[in-house]
Amino acid sequence: MPRDRIYLSPPHMSGQEQTYINEVFESNYIAPLGAFVDRFEESIKGYTGAENAVALCSATAGLHLALRVLGIEKDDYILASSFTFIGSVNAILYQNAKPIFVDSDESWNISPKLLRKAIEEAPKKPKALIITHLYGQLCKVDELVAICKEEGIYLIEDAAESLGASFKQKQSGTFGDMAVYSFNGNKILTTSGGGMLVSHNEEWIEKAKFLSTQSKEDFLHYEHKEVGYNYRMSNVLAAIGVAQMEVLSKRIERRREIFGLYKEQLSCIEEITFMPGIAKSRGNRWLTTLTLSKTNPLKVIEALEKENIESRPLWKPMHMQPLFKDAISVLDGTSKRLFECGICLPSGSSMSDNDVQRVCTVLKGVL
Ligand SMILES: *Cc1c(COP(=O)(O)O)cnc(C)c1O
Repeated sequence: MPRDRIYLSPPHMSGQEQTYINEVFESNYIAPLGAFVDRFEESIKGYTGAENAVALCSATAGLHLALRVLGIEKDDYILASSFTFIGSVNAILYQNAKPIFVDSDESWNISPKLLRKAIEEAPKKPKALIITHLYGQLCKVDELVAICKEEGIYLIEDAAESLGASFKQKQSGTFGDMAVYSFNGNKILTTSGGGMLVSHNEEWIEKAKFLSTQSKEDFLHYEHKEVGYNYRMSNVLAAIGVAQMEVLSKRIERRREIFGLYKEQLSCIEEITFMPGIAKSRGNRWLTTLTLSKTNPLKVIEALEKENIESRPLWKPMHMQPLFKDAISVLDGTSKRLFECGICLPSGSSMSDNDVQRVCTVLKGVL
């Protein structure tokens, strides 16, 4: 008898979404914008402490706008962590700029030490750095902010996975010059698809808004002076976002609890190491991730699949992707090793303690 499938990170509705969508329909502000887009932006600002925000169709679009607003052009160099998801760095190519990939350290996130080396060795001065708070765990932000200040490099945070995670009580997405959050279907909260670009700089966010609505000048007759995009979020999806924000704290609590349960159950297995969190940080544990020192992770993934449980390898580093075979990289082997021995376990906030138990039983059987 096949048991219910346990997914990696499925959407988890609050119950209020449908009510707000009905309000959207009653007002007939289905599109383009409307009151819920403003409310969603306010709610993200209120929760994170970000000063300015613009709701968009994806985080990938947000990163593209960030690069546009910061003036990144053809043949500019952009530093980025290699250990991330492609959405983090595709925008570098949209702008015909050149990535320089930097390896991770023991935090699993970008290594400040290798970042310094990458800046020294770059063919010309890089203009920006994109960091990813992987799986909802903070990068070494203190050091990274200091390096960027010292070198005069813009800092962009890819906080797609880390909404609500913090370091010294300060939220991820508020350390850099600009940052994005994602509301894609598998993230800690979802609008089915969507993103938010935030910044301390009001002018940049105003400019991003302008670019995201086809760069339409302020005339009745549709006048355009520069290339724009259709990147704004619809009022319907923003209504889902407003309802999801009302339960964000609960969702984070549950994800952290699930991590705790896995840790409790699996720490007895010697070859397992969980992704760490840096001192003074509070990650959102979007996904519980671990590495194995002996067993091939594919063996575990297959065993879980047999029990109708979804799991995945860790992100394949960008410097190992065919798309980036010619890119400059500064490496010490860390992210490659993590990729080869790592697993993401089901971590959705709607999982029951029993579901976690089901996953642990399979792992204990294999390892
Ligand atoms: C999901 C994700 C993105 C892309 O977000 P979209 O909203 O789907 O564009 C970018 N970076 C990271 C690290 C992600 O996990």
